[in-house]
Amino acid sequence: MANLSEHPENDPQYKGLFVNEGVSSPPIVNPYLQKRKQKQRFSPSEYTEQILKGNITVLSQAVTLVESQIAEHQVLAQEVIEKCLPYSGNSVRIGITGVPGAGKSTSIDAFGMHLLRDRGKKLAVLAIDPSSERSKGSILGDKTRMEEISREPDVFIRPSPSAGSLGGVARKTRETIILCEAAGFDTVFVETVGVGQSETAVHSMVDFFLLIQLAGTGDELQGIKRGIMEMADGIVVNKADGNNIEKAKLAASQYRNALHLFPLPPSGWSPQVMTYSGYYKNGIPEIWDMIYEYIAFTRENGFFNSRRNSQSKYWMYESINEQLKNHFYQSPEIEKELSVKEKQVLNSELSSFMAAKQMLDLYFRK
Ligand code: GDP
Repeated sequence: MANLSEHPENDPQYKGLFVNEGVSSPPIVNPYLQKRKQKQRFSPSEYTEQILKGNITVLSQAVTLVESQIAEHQVLAQEVIEKCLPYSGNSVRIGITGVPGAGKSTSIDAFGMHLLRDRGKKLAVLAIDPSSERSKGSILGDKTRMEEISREPDVFIRPSPSAGSLGGVARKTRETIILCEAAGFDTVFVETVGVGQSETAVHSMVDFFLLIQLAGTGDELQGIKRGIMEMADGIVVNKADGNNIEKAKLAASQYRNALHLFPLPPSGWSPQVMTYSGYYKNGIPEIWDMIYEYIAFTRENGFFNSRRNSQSKYWMYESINEQLKNHFYQSPEIEKELSVKEKQVLNSELSSFMAAKQMLDLYFRK
């Protein structure tokens, strides 16, 4: 018989389940490095001081706190926001929307370079992407899509916060605007996709809402876009280059006609329609002349401030709603009872209305 210690598989007792004792694996992260990586936390005053000096690294860290789900981070973030608030408000906030492929990132790159080079501005680019919750990572506000401006020191780019409901994500973006303004950014872009609810959220935090459209997509006069068109302060038809120039002009005149059917918005400003090429950088100064004309016009007639005031009011109620909802759904008693009620509703043992009432009675301990 062969030597069993060399060939254990020949042992009749051998079950094939023998596992060699391996060498214990070293920790994945160098323990010394781990110690060093522990982020230095500042006090709220220190954060604020650095943000006011325009320190972008600290600004990024503060935005991470705003986006964090950890309660302790949230408390700290709120203190920093509170301290930065008196230094905020001094920017022009612009919402930029358009369906995927409309050319948002190409345009933001071109707009950004124009603002930086020709108008001496400091730009922050933020984003609200409702799909990023599912996809865990946002394509909006992605630095790699904005090649030119991402290399500029006076530009702060932040992708969409990914966790939470649209309301929660939007609130975080709004708070980030405050921090960016305190850090001296005088122009803030908030990018979003022109599908779904996110435009309403963006509309409620910007001074000017720009809709990027394309020619020849067949939706020029369709009702689907009506809601978004009504929110727009300006519509710009992109890709007016090469063979597409005439089509873009035609689309622009169709948009102009469609806008005539809407009542004059409360700003008193008739939304303008223009064509341009984000890729070839044609027509961009004209778009910005128009935006600044709008800002001057609404500052003059008082709408600029009243829009910001009503937005602040809106966000106060949004914040209350969100926190009430979270408090309700996160209370353990409710969580347990909800699934019971859900089953009863599905089995038609209880009406939806009664189930909701009983849940709320339980919450309010009637
Ligand atoms: P987004 O999804 O809205 O951010 O769109 P992108 O900026 O990624 O652009 C989508 C595609 O359209 C890319 O292939 C761009 O190169 C192209 N594109 C963007 N702007 C223009 C333009 O002004 N003219 C032309 N011809 N193509 C453009």
